[in-house]
Amino acid sequence: MSIISNSLKRIKPSPTIAVTQKARELRAAGKDVIGLGAGEPDFDTPDNIKNAAIKAIRKGDTKYTAVDGTPALKKAVIKKFKRENKLNYSIDQVTVGTGGKQVLYNAFMATLNKGDEVIIPAPFWVSYPDMVLLAGGKPKIVKCTEQEGFKLTAKKLKKTISKKTKWVILNSPSNPTGAGYTKKEIQDLAKVLTRNKKIYVLSDDIYEHVRYDNFNFFTIAQIPKLKNRTLTMNGVSKSYAMTGWRIGYAAGPKDIIKAIGKIQSQSTSNPSSISQAAAVEALNGNQSFIKKRSNAFKQRRDFVVKSLNRIKGISCLKPNGAFYVFPSCKGLLNKKTKLKTDTDFVQKLLEKSNVAVVQGSAFGLDGYFRISYATSMKNLKKAMDRIKYFCESLI
Ligand code: PLP
Repeated sequence: MSIISNSLKRIKPSPTIAVTQKARELRAAGKDVIGLGAGEPDFDTPDNIKNAAIKAIRKGDTKYTAVDGTPALKKAVIKKFKRENKLNYSIDQVTVGTGGKQVLYNAFMATLNKGDEVIIPAPFWVSYPDMVLLAGGKPKIVKCTEQEGFKLTAKKLKKTISKKTKWVILNSPSNPTGAGYTKKEIQDLAKVLTRNKKIYVLSDDIYEHVRYDNFNFFTIAQIPKLKNRTLTMNGVSKSYAMTGWRIGYAAGPKDIIKAIGKIQSQSTSNPSSISQAAAVEALNGNQSFIKKRSNAFKQRRDFVVKSLNRIKGISCLKPNGAFYVFPSCKGLLNKKTKLKTDTDFVQKLLEKSNVAVVQGSAFGLDGYFRISYATSMKNLKKAMDRIKYFCESLI
């Protein structure tokens, strides 16, 4: 009999972390691998944020803090929601965790009973379904096509809702497609959700600050009738290039916030005191980094989309946010190329051309692959040349 629990058998390790690890191993073995698998900005954390952390260490902010975040960080989060999203929260409506990932995990653990359904639009961030499964819930995957801009429509949402639906997850701009929901699209979804008084919305806004072409960010908690049924998760990882600091936060209904704190009190306790001090500076300090960084990402997005659409057999939508594109490789899956699935495509690309990307099926939609362009233009140019050469050699 295995020592491993049944609940753990329901889930798999993160496929995106697996690709990054594989690329790391190949590089260590001497191969010239370009990794386009990682979901983190290649920029360094801004100096004002680093200095705030150093100051915190020197000052002795090195002890346990309140389990779900220091008052200073919670106040900074409240100010952020007010300043950027015109949303008002009190201190007991805010929680801070060790990354957005922990906040989401705790939220599911705190709210799901066996058999409760969570609607997850696909393509989705790889961790949602497995977190739901681990918490005993049932992921209800809704495939959102390229023609729909990879976004959930009100019609599909309405069709998927059942008596057991507890949560709907929205992630805009999205990982893995970069697609952002417009205000109108959110309002259409909200119309369906306001009719059903029991469903809660989990809005994952982690890519809020990575957006282009004057895309207007709108989050579902801004719909007054849904605010008290929405948990809005955000964090400093992607916005301020702070993935390693591990700070995420959420705002929403007091009972959920309190329950998240209860789980945290019996698992990890507070997130790092030093990282919290740094996050206060990130949220309250100079915000010009965001604009500068988005301009650099935009240049890379434009280059990558243009280069991919020049390759025969590949087609790629131009997203308005995040640092991912989600091109189709369906044109290359046939008898002639001897590639049947997106996984075949991705594996051969790594093997033959030393470029690491992630198969679309890992995100719940076959026939695509995800490229993270959070790497230098030099790397991207080399990678696009290699992908072009590889694809043309197949035909
Ligand atoms: N949500 C999405 C969509 C993500 O892509 C990520 C990270 O990759 C997270 C949440 C979690 O981010 P973190 O735990 O670094 O705050």
